[in-house]
Amino acid sequence: MSRAKSFWAWGYEDRFVTDDVREKLRTRLSAVLGVEVAKQPLPSFDATRVRPPRRDAPTEIAGFGSTDARVRAEHTFGKSYADLVRGFAGDFGNAPDLVLFPESEEHIIAALAACSREKIALIPFGGGTSVVGGVEGDVGTGFTAVASLDMRRFDKVLDVDQTSRAARIQAGANGPQIEEQLQKTGLTLRHFPQSYEHSTLGGWIATRAGGHFATGPTHIDDFVESIRMVTPKGVIETRRLPASGAGPSPERLILGSEGSFGVITEAWMRLQARPRWRASVSVHFARFSDGVLAARKIAQSGLFPANCRLLDPGEAMMHEVAPTNAGASVLLLGFESADHPVEPWMERALSLATDLGGDCAEEPTYTTSFSSNSADRTDTLEDNEHGAWRKAFFAAPYLQSALVSMGVMIDTFETAITWDKFDAFHANVSEKVNAALKKHASGGLLTSRFSHVYPDGPAPYYTFVGSAASGSGSGSGSGSGAGRLGKLEAWRAVKEAASSAVIEGGGTITHHHAVGRMHRPHWEKERAPLIGAAFAAVKRELDPAGIMNPGALLPAPK
Ligand SMILES: Cc1cc2nc3c(=O)[nH]c(=O)nc-3n(C[C@H](O)[C@H](O)[C@H](O)COP(=O)(O)OP(=O)(O)OC[C@H]3O[C@@H](n4cnc5c(N)ncnc54)[C@H](O)[C@@H]3O)c2cc1C
Repeated sequence: MSRAKSFWAWGYEDRFVTDDVREKLRTRLSAVLGVEVAKQPLPSFDATRVRPPRRDAPTEIAGFGSTDARVRAEHTFGKSYADLVRGFAGDFGNAPDLVLFPESEEHIIAALAACSREKIALIPFGGGTSVVGGVEGDVGTGFTAVASLDMRRFDKVLDVDQTSRAARIQAGANGPQIEEQLQKTGLTLRHFPQSYEHSTLGGWIATRAGGHFATGPTHIDDFVESIRMVTPKGVIETRRLPASGAGPSPERLILGSEGSFGVITEAWMRLQARPRWRASVSVHFARFSDGVLAARKIAQSGLFPANCRLLDPGEAMMHEVAPTNAGASVLLLGFESADHPVEPWMERALSLATDLGGDCAEEPTYTTSFSSNSADRTDTLEDNEHGAWRKAFFAAPYLQSALVSMGVMIDTFETAITWDKFDAFHANVSEKVNAALKKHASGGLLTSRFSHVYPDGPAPYYTFVGSAASGSGSGSGSGSGAGRLGKLEAWRAVKEAASSAVIEGGGTITHHHAVGRMHRPHWEKERAPLIGAAFAAVKRELDPAGIMNPGALLPAPK
C-alpha cells in the first residue's frame, strides 16, 4: 500500500510534526513575532467540503479515472501558503471533477482527445508541489469540467547510456524514485530542489526547476538532453544531442511550458558521477554588504562552488546557523567533485571571503568518502553549520505546514537581479515588504538569502513571517474556516507588495518557482508583449481546443 500523503499539509501524513515540536515552534514564533501564536486543532478530512463532480467522465477514459472525493481533494491545490490555508480550512470547492491516472501514452492520447472534444480543461499533475497555482482548477467558465492528469504511474528509469552518461526517465518519477533506480549505475541526476522528496521530473521540466546547488549545473534545463511530449495535435520528440545550433531550441520551448502545450511523458537526462570529495565551511560577516561583495567575487572567480549561500542575520537565526554570533550574516561555502580533491578551490574561495572581512567561524570540513548514494539527501549531513543549514532546509516544508496550523503567515518569494542593481533593489524590496507586513501582519519579519549566484548577479530568496491573525482584513485567526480564509487577504496584500517591488526594481517575478496562475499578471509586465503573442500562437497550434492547463502561464479563454 502506498504511504498516505496529508490531504492539506506538505508531505506524508505520518511525518507531520509531533505536538511537542508544534509547541516548541509556537513558543519560538510567539517570541520572534511579539504576539501570542495559538495552536489550532488539526483538520479532519470528514469536515471538508469537496464540490461534487459536474459531469461523468467520457466513457473511453473513465476506466483509468477516479471521482472519489478524497482523491479529488488531493488534486485541488499545490503547496503554496494560500493552498495550505485553504486546505487547512477544508475548502475544496475548486476540486477537479475527475482525476486520471494514465498508465501509457495511449491513455494520455485518449485523454487529450476526449477532453478536447468535450471541452474539459486538463491539468497535468506531477507531485502537486507547485507554489504558484500551477495545478489549480481555476480555469474560467469556458469548460464543462476540469480533469487532473496525475503522472504517478510513469515512474521508471527506462534506459541508461553509461557511455554518454544519460538516462531515459519517465516524467512522473519523483526525486527519490529517480536516485534509487540510478543507484546501481554509480551515476546521479544530482538535481535536488527543496521539494525533491515529492516533485517529479515532468514537473521540474515544465516549471524549469532550480536545484539546491548555488552555481554550476543546477537548473533542470542544464540536464535535459531530449524531451518527449504528447500534445492534443500529436507527439513531439526531440533528438538526443549534446548540443545543437539548429534554429531555436525545441527543448527550450517545452521547458517552462507549465502544462500549457502538452504532457511531458519522458526525457533523456544528463547524469553525473557521484561526488567523492567534498568541502564545506561557513564565513561570518559583521556587515551584510561585505558578504554580498564576497559572494560576487566568488561567483566571478570561475571556482563554481556547489554552495555559495549568503544568509542575512534573520535567515541565519531562523535556520539556527551561527547561534553564538547573532547579527552576523553567514556565507555558506561548499565544493564537491567526483574527480579530484577540492582543497585548492576551497582555499582560494576562503581567501576571497576573508580578504573582504569575513571571519571563518570554524576550519573547513573536508570529506573524501562522501557519496550521495542514498535517495535521502538528509542523511549525509556534515557536523557543522553547513550540516545544520541543510538539515533545516529539507525539514522546512514540514515546519511551514505546522506554522500554518497555528495561524502564522509564512511564505517565500524569489527572484534574480544583476549585481549592479542589487543594493538598491534589495533596499526597496525590503522597505516595501516590511511596510506591508507592518500594515497587514502586525510587523512580522522579512529574511533573505542568496539561493544561487551567477557571475552577473545573485538570485535573492526572501521569506516573510507574520501574524496572520491580526492586521486589516485578516479574519479572526481561529475558529471557523471562513475566519481562517480571511487571513488570505492580508497575505495577498504582502505578496502584491513583494511582486510589485520585484518587477519595478528590474528583477524577474520568478527565478525557479514558475509563473502559474499566481505570477501571471507580473510576468506579463516582465516579458515583451510580442513574446506573449508568440507563445499564444504556439498554444493554438498544439492545443487547438485550448484545454491544456488554461490560465496557468497563458490566460484562460474568455
Ligand atoms: C516546500 C517546497 C519547496 C520547493 N522548492 C523548490 C526548489 O528548491 N526549486 C524549485 O525549482 N522549485 C521548488 N518548489 C516548487 C515546486 O516544487 C517546483 O515547481 C516543481 O518543479 C514542481 O514539480 P511537481 O512535480 O510537483 O509539479 P506539479 O506541482 O504537479 O506541477 C507544476 C506545473 O507543471 C505542470 N506539469 C507537471 N507535470 C507535468 C508533465 N508531466 N507534463 C506537462 N506539465 C506538467 C503542471 O501542470 C503545473 O503547471 C518548491 C515547492 C515547495 C512546496
